[in-house]
Amino acid sequence: MRGTAELIFTGDELLRGDTVNTNQAFLGGRLLELGLFTTHAVSVTDDRKAIAHALVGALLRSPDVIILSGGLGPTEDDLTREGVAEALKRPLDMRDDLLALIAERFRKLDIAMGMSNRKQALIPHGATVIPLVGTAPGFWLDEGGVFVAALPGVPRELEQMWTDTLRPTLVDRFGIEEAVPSVRRLRLHGIGESMLADVLRDIPWRGAGVEIGTQASLDGITLTFSAQPDDRSRARLAELEELVRDILGTKIYGSEDDTLSGIVGMLLRDRNMTIATAESCTGGLLAKRLTDHAGSSDYFVGGVVAYSNRLKGTLLGVSPEILHTHGAVSEQTAAAMALGARERLQADCVIATTGIAGPGGGTPDKPVGLVYVATAIGSDVQVRRFNLFRSREEIRERAAYAALDVFRRRLLDSLER
Ligand code: ATP
Ligand code: MG
Repeated sequence: MRGTAELIFTGDELLRGDTVNTNQAFLGGRLLELGLFTTHAVSVTDDRKAIAHALVGALLRSPDVIILSGGLGPTEDDLTREGVAEALKRPLDMRDDLLALIAERFRKLDIAMGMSNRKQALIPHGATVIPLVGTAPGFWLDEGGVFVAALPGVPRELEQMWTDTLRPTLVDRFGIEEAVPSVRRLRLHGIGESMLADVLRDIPWRGAGVEIGTQASLDGITLTFSAQPDDRSRARLAELEELVRDILGTKIYGSEDDTLSGIVGMLLRDRNMTIATAESCTGGLLAKRLTDHAGSSDYFVGGVVAYSNRLKGTLLGVSPEILHTHGAVSEQTAAAMALGARERLQADCVIATTGIAGPGGGTPDKPVGLVYVATAIGSDVQVRRFNLFRSREEIRERAAYAALDVFRRRLLDSLER
């Protein structure tokens, strides 16, 4: 059996598009970590009947868990309590213990408690109160074997209630073995989605109690394995991960929240090496990425953004002949930028970029999206050519990530030799 969850979000601001539903991303991800896959997530207007209907609809599908988010505040459009009570045909009980807690909270904050806050002490009959984080209490209950919880909409409050109360309650309820992870995210670069699909077709994961999902973004592809919450499926997940690692090798740059720049930094630090950047089309993005991490001064010495031919010459020592003969966007210029930067900025390694980010400026020979990345490790320079696509912004972002990845793989290769 596969564990399932459904999510119900309340709030006109979500439907209007004024607020991005970050609670969905949070809850979907955290539930998956417990082996609970979210099959439905809906957002409904601030209306008692709409909330009640959504809950009744979810209950009909009998998921293991239903979580509602938002609408637990004191105002008139906060109607989750009422909606849940209506859907479950349970009365709302005024909980004096909770009322005292809320009053205490207001006293501490030195704010006068309004009459409207009293309604926050109303909880559907039979529900368990989730301790306060702000002033809106959450609650959970069992409805015919389905675990139903309501959490406040404010992300910080929702997240803390999840961590402090809901997660441990669910772990307990489903007897989830915490030590063995049931979700694994592998981070890949330098492989297309279709090629990855071919790889996945050839490995025996279907029917193994493990789901595999892929998600493409500018910095590569994330491969998510999620196992059902039983020991066999989780053991299978570990085996499948090994298998995929064997096939994809260094195309996998990390896992979970790893970033390309973070991994590059780690490799440099391990080797006690320094790096500098010489950028044209990426306009400083590479230097930005490399310095995203605390402690990056251990390996990053600095960089030059040499956008014009003049500065490619004066700052990086690229000769007028090279620029004249091959052009600013060329293998030769990229290599000269890397070598020039290595010498002038005194670093062990350099990454240099030059390309055509567009939207204008492309020619049949040198189309928009053509990017050269030169990497120098010591005096050994290599140049890679990329044909990137879409908007100027995406081309620049992709170029910076591609450059980091090329460099990462070269570092790994140089170690093997
Ligand atoms: P409050 O006591 O603050 O009213 P509440 O439980 O009633 O708590 P809402 O009124 O639904 O929560 O939302 C409060 C704020 O939280 C909203 O203004 C919105 O900015 C944010 N919020 C609500 N739902 C979400 C969501 N799904 N994702 C991200 N932010 C959200
Ligand atoms: Mg509210």
